[in-house]
Amino acid sequence: QRRGAEFVMFSVPSYACQRRTSLDNRNAVLTDALSLLADNAELSGDEGRGVAFRRAAAVLKALPKPVTDTTQLRGLPCLGEHSLRVIKDILEDGASDEVESTRRSERYKALKVLTGVFGVGVKTADRWIREGIRDLQRLRDSGPALNRAQQAGLQHYDDLNQPVTRAEADAIAEIVERAVASVLPGAQTTLTGGFRRGKLTGHDVDFLITHPEEGREEGLVPKVVSWLESEGVLLYQKTARNSYLEGRDGPGRPSSSMDRFETCFSIFKLPREEKRGAGQTHGAACGPEAGHKPWRAVRVDLVVSPVSQFAFALLGWTGSKLFERELRRWARHEKAMSLSSHALYDNKQRRYLRAASEEEIFAHLGLEFIPPSERNA
Ligand code: ATP
Ligand code: MN
Ligand code: MN
Repeated sequence: QRRGAEFVMFSVPSYACQRRTSLDNRNAVLTDALSLLADNAELSGDEGRGVAFRRAAAVLKALPKPVTDTTQLRGLPCLGEHSLRVIKDILEDGASDEVESTRRSERYKALKVLTGVFGVGVKTADRWIREGIRDLQRLRDSGPALNRAQQAGLQHYDDLNQPVTRAEADAIAEIVERAVASVLPGAQTTLTGGFRRGKLTGHDVDFLITHPEEGREEGLVPKVVSWLESEGVLLYQKTARNSYLEGRDGPGRPSSSMDRFETCFSIFKLPREEKRGAGQTHGAACGPEAGHKPWRAVRVDLVVSPVSQFAFALLGWTGSKLFERELRRWARHEKAMSLSSHALYDNKQRRYLRAASEEEIFAHLGLEFIPPSERNA
Protein backbone atom coordinates (compact mmCIF):
# COMPACT_ATOMS: atom_id res chain seq x y z
CA GLN A 1 0.00 0.00 0.00
CA ARG A 2 2.29 2.70 -1.33
CA ARG A 3 0.19 5.64 -0.28
CA GLY A 4 -0.66 4.34 3.17
CA ALA A 5 -3.85 5.78 4.62
CA GLU A 6 -4.69 7.67 1.42
CA PHE A 7 -4.81 4.53 -0.64
CA VAL A 8 -8.34 3.35 -1.37
CA MET A 9 -9.59 0.43 -3.41
CA PHE A 10 -12.98 1.03 -5.00
CA SER A 11 -15.86 -1.29 -5.67
CA VAL A 12 -18.97 -0.56 -7.72
CA PRO A 13 -21.73 -2.74 -9.22
CA SER A 14 -21.57 -3.11 -12.97
CA TYR A 15 -24.82 -1.53 -14.20
CA ALA A 16 -25.16 2.24 -13.77
CA CYS A 17 -28.78 1.72 -12.65
CA GLN A 18 -27.49 -0.25 -9.62
CA ARG A 19 -25.41 2.70 -8.40
CA ARG A 20 -25.95 6.18 -7.04
CA THR A 21 -24.30 8.83 -9.19
CA SER A 22 -24.67 12.35 -7.81
CA LEU A 23 -23.55 15.52 -9.59
CA ASP A 24 -20.56 15.69 -7.27
CA ASN A 25 -18.03 14.12 -9.65
CA ARG A 26 -14.63 13.68 -7.98
CA ASN A 27 -12.96 12.56 -11.19
CA ALA A 28 -14.02 15.23 -13.67
CA VAL A 29 -10.63 15.45 -15.40
CA LEU A 30 -10.73 11.74 -16.20
CA THR A 31 -14.43 11.62 -17.09
CA ASP A 32 -14.13 14.70 -19.36
CA ALA A 33 -11.35 12.95 -21.27
CA LEU A 34 -13.32 9.72 -21.64
CA SER A 35 -16.45 11.67 -22.64
CA LEU A 36 -14.50 13.42 -25.37
CA LEU A 37 -13.41 10.05 -26.76
CA ALA A 38 -17.04 8.88 -26.50
CA ASP A 39 -18.18 11.97 -28.44
CA ASN A 40 -15.53 11.34 -31.05
CA ALA A 41 -16.49 7.67 -31.44
CA GLU A 42 -20.18 8.59 -31.79
CA LEU A 43 -19.37 11.35 -34.26
CA SER A 44 -17.45 8.75 -36.27
CA GLY A 45 -20.47 6.46 -36.32
CA ASP A 46 -18.93 3.98 -33.88
CA GLU A 47 -21.74 3.77 -31.33
CA GLY A 48 -20.39 0.64 -29.66
CA ARG A 49 -17.09 2.28 -28.82
CA GLY A 50 -18.94 5.39 -27.71
CA VAL A 51 -21.00 3.44 -25.20
CA ALA A 52 -17.89 1.67 -23.92
CA PHE A 53 -16.23 5.03 -23.14
CA ARG A 54 -19.47 6.35 -21.58
CA ARG A 55 -19.75 3.31 -19.32
CA ALA A 56 -16.12 3.72 -18.26
CA ALA A 57 -16.69 7.41 -17.50
CA ALA A 58 -19.84 6.55 -15.54
CA VAL A 59 -17.92 4.13 -13.31
CA LEU A 60 -15.46 6.90 -12.41
CA LYS A 61 -18.35 9.35 -11.75
CA ALA A 62 -19.69 6.95 -9.12
CA LEU A 63 -16.43 6.81 -7.12
CA PRO A 64 -16.46 8.61 -3.75
CA LYS A 65 -12.90 9.94 -4.10
CA PRO A 66 -10.47 11.03 -6.81
CA VAL A 67 -8.48 8.20 -8.36
CA THR A 68 -4.78 8.70 -7.73
CA ASP A 69 -3.32 5.43 -8.96
CA THR A 70 -4.51 2.90 -11.54
CA THR A 71 -4.03 0.03 -9.09
CA GLN A 72 -7.07 1.40 -7.24
CA LEU A 73 -9.17 0.48 -10.25
CA ARG A 74 -8.50 -3.26 -10.13
CA GLY A 75 -11.70 -5.25 -10.32
CA LEU A 76 -13.87 -2.30 -11.38
CA PRO A 77 -16.38 -3.08 -14.14
CA CYS A 78 -16.55 -1.48 -17.61
CA LEU A 79 -12.95 -0.29 -17.66
CA GLY A 80 -11.53 -1.73 -20.86
CA GLU A 81 -7.91 -1.74 -21.95
CA HIS A 82 -8.33 1.45 -23.95
CA SER A 83 -10.02 3.43 -21.16
CA LEU A 84 -7.46 2.21 -18.62
CA ARG A 85 -4.61 3.37 -20.88
CA VAL A 86 -6.16 6.85 -21.14
CA ILE A 87 -6.66 7.02 -17.35
CA LYS A 88 -3.07 5.88 -16.75
CA ASP A 89 -1.65 8.49 -19.13
CA ILE A 90 -3.57 11.28 -17.42
CA LEU A 91 -2.64 10.14 -13.89
CA GLU A 92 1.04 9.77 -14.80
CA ASP A 93 1.62 12.56 -17.35
CA GLY A 94 -1.22 14.95 -16.64
CA ALA A 95 -2.72 14.44 -20.11
CA SER A 96 -3.43 11.81 -22.75
CA ASP A 97 -1.89 12.31 -26.21
CA GLU A 98 -4.84 10.58 -27.82
CA VAL A 99 -7.36 12.85 -26.12
CA GLU A 100 -5.41 16.02 -26.86
CA SER A 101 -4.79 15.18 -30.51
CA THR A 102 -8.47 14.28 -30.94
CA ARG A 103 -9.50 17.56 -29.32
CA ARG A 104 -7.26 19.46 -31.79
CA SER A 105 -8.16 17.47 -34.90
CA GLU A 106 -9.88 19.38 -37.69
CA ARG A 107 -12.41 16.63 -38.23
CA TYR A 108 -13.46 16.50 -34.56
CA LYS A 109 -13.74 20.28 -34.34
CA ALA A 110 -15.81 20.45 -37.53
CA LEU A 111 -18.13 17.64 -36.42
CA LYS A 112 -18.66 19.35 -33.05
CA VAL A 113 -19.53 22.70 -34.64
CA LEU A 114 -21.84 21.26 -37.29
CA THR A 115 -23.69 18.84 -34.99
CA GLY A 116 -24.00 21.77 -32.58
CA VAL A 117 -26.57 23.13 -35.03
CA PHE A 118 -30.05 22.02 -33.87
CA GLY A 119 -31.43 19.53 -36.40
CA VAL A 120 -28.03 18.38 -37.70
CA GLY A 121 -27.05 14.79 -37.00
CA VAL A 122 -23.80 12.93 -37.50
CA LYS A 123 -24.63 11.73 -41.01
CA THR A 124 -25.47 15.20 -42.30
CA ALA A 125 -22.41 16.75 -40.67
CA ASP A 126 -20.21 14.05 -42.18
CA ARG A 127 -21.64 14.64 -45.66
CA TRP A 128 -21.12 18.40 -45.38
CA ILE A 129 -17.51 17.93 -44.30
CA ARG A 130 -16.90 15.75 -47.35
CA GLU A 131 -18.40 18.56 -49.43
CA GLY A 132 -15.93 21.00 -47.88
CA ILE A 133 -18.28 22.62 -45.37
CA ARG A 134 -16.38 22.70 -42.11
CA ASP A 135 -17.69 25.77 -40.28
CA LEU A 136 -20.80 27.92 -39.89
CA GLN A 137 -19.56 30.62 -42.25
CA ARG A 138 -19.21 28.07 -45.04
CA LEU A 139 -22.58 26.58 -44.12
CA ARG A 140 -24.25 30.01 -44.37
CA ASP A 141 -22.47 30.91 -47.63
CA SER A 142 -22.53 27.71 -49.64
CA GLY A 143 -26.17 27.12 -48.79
CA PRO A 144 -26.80 23.37 -48.92
CA ALA A 145 -30.53 22.67 -48.67
CA LEU A 146 -31.43 23.09 -45.00
CA ASN A 147 -34.65 21.75 -43.53
CA ARG A 148 -36.83 23.89 -41.26
CA ALA A 149 -35.19 22.65 -38.04
CA GLN A 150 -31.67 23.29 -39.37
CA GLN A 151 -32.59 26.78 -40.55
CA ALA A 152 -33.86 27.61 -37.05
CA GLY A 153 -30.80 25.94 -35.54
CA LEU A 154 -28.42 28.00 -37.63
CA GLN A 155 -30.34 31.21 -37.03
CA HIS A 156 -30.29 30.76 -33.24
CA TYR A 157 -26.92 29.00 -33.01
CA ASP A 158 -25.35 31.23 -30.36
CA ASP A 159 -28.39 31.26 -28.07
CA LEU A 160 -28.92 27.51 -28.35
CA ASN A 161 -25.28 26.77 -27.54
CA GLN A 162 -25.37 28.88 -24.42
CA PRO A 163 -26.39 26.73 -21.42
CA VAL A 164 -29.91 27.22 -20.07
CA THR A 165 -29.89 28.26 -16.40
CA ARG A 166 -32.19 26.98 -13.70
CA ALA A 167 -33.81 30.43 -13.48
CA GLU A 168 -34.54 30.33 -17.22
CA ALA A 169 -35.93 26.80 -16.85
CA ASP A 170 -38.27 28.06 -14.11
CA ALA A 171 -39.40 30.96 -16.29
CA ILE A 172 -40.12 28.53 -19.15
CA ALA A 173 -41.98 26.24 -16.71
CA GLU A 174 -44.24 29.12 -15.75
CA ILE A 175 -45.13 29.77 -19.39
CA VAL A 176 -45.75 26.07 -20.13
CA GLU A 177 -47.91 25.70 -17.02
CA ARG A 178 -49.97 28.72 -18.02
CA ALA A 179 -50.45 27.30 -21.53
CA VAL A 180 -51.41 23.85 -20.26
CA ALA A 181 -53.78 25.19 -17.58
CA SER A 182 -55.65 27.33 -20.08
CA VAL A 183 -56.18 24.61 -22.70
CA LEU A 184 -56.78 21.66 -20.33
CA PRO A 185 -57.61 22.54 -16.71
CA GLY A 186 -56.51 19.80 -14.31
CA ALA A 187 -53.58 18.68 -16.47
CA GLN A 188 -50.26 18.30 -14.66
CA THR A 189 -46.88 19.52 -15.87
CA THR A 190 -43.65 18.00 -14.56
CA LEU A 191 -40.11 19.21 -15.19
CA THR A 192 -38.02 16.24 -16.36
CA GLY A 193 -34.56 15.79 -17.96
CA GLY A 194 -31.40 17.14 -16.40
CA PHE A 195 -33.13 19.79 -14.30
CA ARG A 196 -35.14 17.09 -12.50
CA ARG A 197 -31.80 15.44 -11.71
CA GLY A 198 -30.69 18.65 -10.02
CA LYS A 199 -28.43 19.96 -12.78
CA LEU A 200 -27.81 23.71 -12.60
CA THR A 201 -27.73 24.14 -16.40
CA GLY A 202 -28.97 22.22 -19.41
CA HIS A 203 -28.99 22.23 -23.20
CA ASP A 204 -32.80 22.39 -23.16
CA VAL A 205 -35.80 22.23 -20.81
CA ASP A 206 -37.89 19.05 -20.75
CA PHE A 207 -41.52 18.69 -19.62
CA LEU A 208 -43.88 15.77 -19.22
CA ILE A 209 -47.60 16.53 -19.21
CA THR A 210 -50.49 14.27 -18.20
CA HIS A 211 -54.09 14.41 -16.96
CA PRO A 212 -55.46 12.28 -14.08
CA GLU A 213 -58.36 11.11 -16.29
CA GLU A 214 -57.04 8.73 -18.96
CA GLY A 215 -57.83 9.98 -22.47
CA ARG A 216 -58.32 13.64 -21.56
CA GLU A 217 -54.70 14.28 -22.56
CA GLU A 218 -55.33 13.23 -26.18
CA GLY A 219 -54.62 15.99 -28.67
CA LEU A 220 -53.15 18.26 -26.01
CA VAL A 221 -49.95 19.14 -27.87
CA PRO A 222 -51.59 20.94 -30.82
CA LYS A 223 -53.73 22.96 -28.39
CA VAL A 224 -50.73 23.96 -26.28
CA VAL A 225 -48.83 24.86 -29.45
CA SER A 226 -51.70 27.10 -30.68
CA TRP A 227 -51.80 28.87 -27.33
CA LEU A 228 -48.02 29.41 -27.33
CA GLU A 229 -48.12 30.60 -30.94
CA SER A 230 -50.88 33.09 -30.24
CA GLU A 231 -48.74 34.47 -27.41
CA GLY A 232 -45.77 34.79 -29.77
CA VAL A 233 -43.66 32.39 -27.67
CA LEU A 234 -42.56 29.95 -30.38
CA LEU A 235 -39.65 30.46 -32.77
CA TYR A 236 -39.87 26.86 -34.04
CA GLN A 237 -41.91 23.78 -33.29
CA LYS A 238 -42.31 20.30 -34.66
CA THR A 239 -45.04 18.17 -33.15
CA ALA A 240 -45.65 14.45 -33.43
CA ARG A 241 -48.85 12.56 -32.74
CA ASN A 242 -49.11 9.68 -30.30
CA SER A 243 -48.56 6.46 -32.23
CA TYR A 244 -48.33 3.96 -29.38
CA LEU A 245 -50.51 0.89 -29.39
CA GLU A 246 -49.92 -1.64 -26.63
CA GLY A 247 -49.24 -5.04 -28.11
CA ARG A 248 -48.37 -3.70 -31.53
CA ASP A 249 -45.59 -1.28 -30.62
CA GLY A 250 -45.26 -2.56 -27.09
CA PRO A 251 -41.95 -3.12 -25.37
CA GLY A 252 -42.27 -6.81 -26.21
CA ARG A 253 -41.29 -5.72 -29.69
CA PRO A 254 -37.56 -5.20 -30.09
CA SER A 255 -37.88 -2.32 -32.58
CA SER A 256 -39.60 0.04 -30.13
CA SER A 257 -36.78 2.02 -28.54
CA MET A 258 -38.24 5.18 -30.10
CA ASP A 259 -40.93 6.94 -28.11
CA ARG A 260 -44.40 7.18 -29.54
CA PHE A 261 -45.87 9.89 -27.33
CA GLU A 262 -47.41 13.15 -28.47
CA THR A 263 -44.38 15.44 -28.50
CA CYS A 264 -43.33 18.92 -29.40
CA PHE A 265 -39.67 19.69 -29.98
CA SER A 266 -39.51 23.46 -29.96
CA ILE A 267 -37.55 26.67 -29.63
CA PHE A 268 -38.99 29.26 -27.24
CA LYS A 269 -38.50 33.00 -27.40
CA LEU A 270 -37.78 33.81 -23.76
CA PRO A 271 -37.82 37.47 -22.69
CA ARG A 272 -34.56 38.35 -21.00
CA GLU A 273 -34.71 38.86 -17.28
CA GLU A 274 -33.76 42.46 -16.43
CA LYS A 275 -30.60 42.23 -14.38
CA ARG A 276 -31.23 43.89 -11.06
CA GLY A 277 -28.52 45.90 -9.30
CA ALA A 278 -25.94 48.32 -10.59
CA GLY A 279 -23.21 47.56 -13.07
CA GLN A 280 -25.15 44.89 -14.94
CA THR A 281 -26.45 47.05 -17.75
CA HIS A 282 -23.39 46.94 -19.98
CA GLY A 283 -23.36 43.92 -22.30
CA ALA A 284 -20.21 42.26 -20.92
CA ALA A 285 -22.02 39.85 -18.61
CA CYS A 286 -24.37 38.79 -21.39
CA GLY A 287 -21.80 37.68 -23.94
CA PRO A 288 -20.73 39.33 -27.18
CA GLU A 289 -23.84 38.58 -29.26
CA ALA A 290 -26.38 39.32 -26.55
CA GLY A 291 -26.14 43.06 -27.18
CA HIS A 292 -29.56 44.47 -27.91
CA LYS A 293 -31.88 41.52 -28.25
CA PRO A 294 -34.44 41.61 -25.39
CA TRP A 295 -35.02 37.85 -25.63
CA ARG A 296 -33.12 34.62 -26.12
CA ALA A 297 -33.89 31.35 -27.89
CA VAL A 298 -34.23 28.24 -25.67
CA ARG A 299 -34.82 24.62 -26.73
CA VAL A 300 -37.90 23.11 -25.06
CA ASP A 301 -39.22 19.54 -25.27
CA LEU A 302 -42.87 18.82 -24.42
CA VAL A 303 -44.06 15.24 -24.02
CA VAL A 304 -47.65 14.20 -23.28
CA SER A 305 -48.35 10.86 -21.64
CA PRO A 306 -51.59 9.06 -20.77
CA VAL A 307 -51.69 8.76 -16.97
CA SER A 308 -51.46 4.94 -17.16
CA GLN A 309 -47.99 5.30 -18.74
CA PHE A 310 -46.91 8.32 -16.69
CA ALA A 311 -44.46 6.53 -14.36
CA PHE A 312 -42.67 4.93 -17.32
CA ALA A 313 -42.58 8.21 -19.23
CA LEU A 314 -41.26 10.05 -16.16
CA LEU A 315 -38.53 7.46 -15.64
CA GLY A 316 -37.68 7.47 -19.36
CA TRP A 317 -37.50 11.25 -19.73
CA THR A 318 -35.54 11.97 -16.56
CA GLY A 319 -32.29 10.44 -17.83
CA SER A 320 -29.39 10.52 -17.84
CA LYS A 321 -29.16 8.94 -21.26
CA LEU A 322 -26.66 6.38 -20.01
CA PHE A 323 -28.78 5.63 -16.94
CA GLU A 324 -31.75 4.95 -19.26
CA ARG A 325 -29.69 2.75 -21.52
CA GLU A 326 -28.42 0.78 -18.52
CA LEU A 327 -31.95 0.33 -17.11
CA ARG A 328 -33.08 -1.21 -20.40
CA ARG A 329 -29.96 -3.39 -20.59
CA TRP A 330 -30.50 -4.57 -17.01
CA ALA A 331 -34.17 -5.34 -17.73
CA ARG A 332 -33.34 -7.32 -20.87
CA HIS A 333 -30.25 -9.23 -19.75
CA GLU A 334 -30.84 -9.75 -16.04
CA LYS A 335 -34.65 -9.92 -15.85
CA ALA A 336 -35.82 -11.00 -19.33
CA MET A 337 -38.04 -7.91 -19.37
CA SER A 338 -38.44 -5.13 -21.93
CA LEU A 339 -38.55 -1.58 -20.60
CA SER A 340 -39.60 1.49 -22.59
CA SER A 341 -40.96 4.94 -21.77
CA HIS A 342 -44.43 3.42 -22.25
CA ALA A 343 -44.41 0.14 -20.36
CA LEU A 344 -42.59 -2.82 -18.84
CA TYR A 345 -43.14 -6.25 -20.36
CA ASP A 346 -42.18 -9.51 -18.68
CA ASN A 347 -41.07 -11.86 -21.46
CA LYS A 348 -41.36 -14.99 -19.28
CA GLN A 349 -44.80 -14.29 -17.85
CA ARG A 350 -45.80 -12.80 -21.22
CA ARG A 351 -47.58 -9.88 -19.61
CA TYR A 352 -47.23 -6.15 -18.94
CA LEU A 353 -46.28 -5.10 -15.41
CA ARG A 354 -48.23 -2.02 -14.32
CA ALA A 355 -46.73 0.75 -12.24
CA ALA A 356 -48.08 4.00 -10.84
CA SER A 357 -44.72 5.32 -9.63
CA GLU A 358 -41.02 5.14 -10.45
CA GLU A 359 -40.53 3.26 -7.17
CA GLU A 360 -42.80 0.45 -8.43
CA ILE A 361 -40.83 0.16 -11.66
CA PHE A 362 -37.53 -0.22 -9.80
CA ALA A 363 -39.22 -2.83 -7.59
CA HIS A 364 -40.47 -4.79 -10.65
CA LEU A 365 -36.90 -4.71 -11.97
CA GLY A 366 -35.47 -5.98 -8.67
CA LEU A 367 -33.45 -2.77 -8.26
CA GLU A 368 -32.99 -0.51 -5.27
CA PHE A 369 -34.79 2.80 -5.91
CA ILE A 370 -32.39 5.47 -7.18
CA PRO A 371 -33.78 9.03 -6.83
CA PRO A 372 -33.43 11.43 -9.80
CA SER A 373 -30.55 13.36 -8.21
CA GLU A 374 -28.51 10.13 -8.17
CA ARG A 375 -29.15 9.19 -11.80
CA ASN A 376 -26.38 11.40 -13.14
CA ALA A 377 -24.42 8.54 -14.69
P1 ATP B 1 -29.42 18.32 -20.98
O1 ATP B 1 -29.23 19.12 -19.75
O2 ATP B 1 -28.24 18.37 -21.89
O3 ATP B 1 -30.69 18.66 -21.70
P2 ATP B 1 -30.76 15.89 -20.42
O4 ATP B 1 -30.43 14.72 -19.57
O5 ATP B 1 -31.99 16.65 -20.04
O6 ATP B 1 -29.50 16.81 -20.49
P3 ATP B 1 -32.05 15.39 -22.97
O7 ATP B 1 -31.42 15.15 -24.31
O8 ATP B 1 -32.88 16.61 -22.84
O9 ATP B 1 -30.87 15.35 -21.92
O10 ATP B 1 -32.90 14.10 -22.66
C1 ATP B 1 -33.61 13.90 -21.46
C2 ATP B 1 -34.14 12.51 -21.40
O11 ATP B 1 -35.13 12.30 -22.39
C3 ATP B 1 -33.07 11.45 -21.65
O12 ATP B 1 -33.17 10.47 -20.67
C4 ATP B 1 -33.37 10.87 -22.98
O13 ATP B 1 -33.15 9.49 -22.99
C5 ATP B 1 -34.83 11.17 -23.17
N1 ATP B 1 -35.08 11.50 -24.58
C6 ATP B 1 -34.60 12.56 -25.24
N2 ATP B 1 -35.02 12.56 -26.52
C7 ATP B 1 -35.78 11.48 -26.67
C8 ATP B 1 -36.53 10.92 -27.76
N3 ATP B 1 -36.56 11.47 -28.97
N4 ATP B 1 -37.22 9.78 -27.52
C9 ATP B 1 -37.19 9.22 -26.32
N5 ATP B 1 -36.53 9.69 -25.25
C10 ATP B 1 -35.83 10.80 -25.42
MN1 MN C 1 -32.75 18.14 -21.32
MN1 MN D 1 -34.58 17.17 -24.27
